Amino acid sequence: MERLETLIIGSGPAGYTAAIYAARADLKPVLYTGLEPGGQLTTTTDVDNFPGYPKGIDGPTMMIQLKEQAERFGTDVRIGHVKNVKLSKKIGKLHKVIIEDGSEIETKTIIISTGATAKYLGLESEQRLIGGGVSACAVCDGFFYKNQEVAVVGGGDTAAEEATYLSKICSKVTMLVRKDKMRASKAMQNRVFKSKNIILKFNSEIDEVLGENVVEGLRIINNVTKKKDEISISGLFIAIGHKPNTEIFNDQLEMDDLGYIITKGKTTKTNIPGVFASGDVQDKEYRQAITAAGTGCMAALDAERYLQKLN
Ligand code: NDP
Repeated sequence: MERLETLIIGSGPAGYTAAIYAARADLKPVLYTGLEPGGQLTTTTDVDNFPGYPKGIDGPTMMIQLKEQAERFGTDVRIGHVKNVKLSKKIGKLHKVIIEDGSEIETKTIIISTGATAKYLGLESEQRLIGGGVSACAVCDGFFYKNQEVAVVGGGDTAAEEATYLSKICSKVTMLVRKDKMRASKAMQNRVFKSKNIILKFNSEIDEVLGENVVEGLRIINNVTKKKDEISISGLFIAIGHKPNTEIFNDQLEMDDLGYIITKGKTTKTNIPGVFASGDVQDKEYRQAITAAGTGCMAALDAERYLQKLN
């Protein structure tokens, strides 16, 4: 059976940054990419808010470069996903990891960077236009719709935050809430109500996203009156929640009620010795490439210190 010092699961900015630091610290990391190599950024077009890229960079290219940087220091990047884990509660005892092809690995430390997946509505027209005006991240993509009209779907804190953010950039933001009230906190709702260019439409759902190659509008249906209506927009932001990719750790790691891994204080330590979590899998607040990368660095340093004590 293969034995490792450090196994990294996930290939977004958190996983690759953890790999760069772990490899430079001679932990000889192996990184499994997961089902979506490169993570959420591979579904974005331009990344304009990652420091160090004055002209911006497109998401897929950035992830290729992060991979190359991790490999430059000796990270063994493997395409494939982890099927199962058996975490050991005892300090120093090896954790067992089973890969999709049936192979087994024993490792002293694990860095979990499996991310979170944005939820989408599932409409054919929405799926076809992802990257063509449909986005799940206002901070990432809002700037492309400067002074244009956009719509946000959802009534929770994320939707309220995204709509408020977009209202400062875009000329008009239509917020579509499927119930007759929002789920967001009162404070967030008040921010929405105070923004003059946010138009709230309750009991409203999308029937179809209009446009061939780019978003041109929406056909909306009122789910009470069944009346249909069309609006013109150039950007659609889906903000109906994220799902952390933590199923394989269920019943083994401490998670909050939404399934995000709980880390201790300002560290990336989980409740299991030698197991660390970085990126969106433990963060529902910030969810940015740069914050994910930051916690990836922290996880590698935490793993290095853990191994130093152990050895
Ligand atoms: P939530 O699950 O809280 O809200 C999801 C929203 O999307 C709800 O309004 C829901 O409607 C709606 N929705 C779900 N599915 C559909 C669908 N198919 N069609 C239309 N609408 C749909 O997710 P959030 O991402 O908003 O928040 C997740 C957690 O993160 C919360 O605990 C939140 O408080 C927290 N958070 C905190 C922030 C902060 O404090 N700054 C910022 C962002 C999030 P319905 O109500 O009808 O179910």
